[in-house]
Amino acid sequence: MNPERPYRVPQGHVEGEPRINAPAETIGTSKLELAQGDITQQETEAIGNAANSRLAGGGGVDGAIHRAGGPSIMQELRAKYPQGCPTGQAVITGGGRLKARYVLHAVGPVYSGKPKDAELLASAYRSCLTLCSQHGIRTVAFPAISTGVYRYPVEEAAPIAIRAVADYLKTHPEITLVRFVLFDPATYQAYRHALATASHRV
Ligand code: ADP
Repeated sequence: MNPERPYRVPQGHVEGEPRINAPAETIGTSKLELAQGDITQQETEAIGNAANSRLAGGGGVDGAIHRAGGPSIMQELRAKYPQGCPTGQAVITGGGRLKARYVLHAVGPVYSGKPKDAELLASAYRSCLTLCSQHGIRTVAFPAISTGVYRYPVEEAAPIAIRAVADYLKTHPEITLVRFVLFDPATYQAYRHALATASHRV
């Protein structure tokens, strides 16, 4: 085995091609799956963004999405949501030049170590999924919200994210695919571990 590649990383998915070793789970009639990669390249109908509450743009995945999608996304945010977005909620814009038609700008919590962090993080994902249901979006990709600059430990954030999505899918078959797209190997492995445990199945 190549020591630098101790496991097989699913690369960007090509529609119609089988996905090799992509961890996935079926929830009702919907699919929840994990991939390692760059969310700006996803071909799901919507992608999630880890935004700040001013919706002002930033680094990390937010910067990557605005760079790839072009200026129309920020223009739409300024025009439609001048007040910003509270922590734990999300707003929707078009996807500009992205392959995805929509971007869901979710505001996760800055990690504080208090119990409310988990509720706000779960709420950010739920808010995105509610927007999907309202807009007829069936397929969506999410980054690991709050685990970068907002310092949420990924081992804590991953089971919360998976649980929030799994719970929503149980009662919302209109969403057929949720894919977590994790940028770095450590984050991807933390999500794999969380998906392998049973806590989201009950
Ligand atoms: P937050 O402020 O919510 O913590 P960040 O953008 O700092 O948001 O980080 C959230 C996660 O997004 C981190 O795991 C980071 O590695 C990841 N990330 C950064 N760029 C990308 C990208 N292009 N695609 C997917 N995930 C990304």
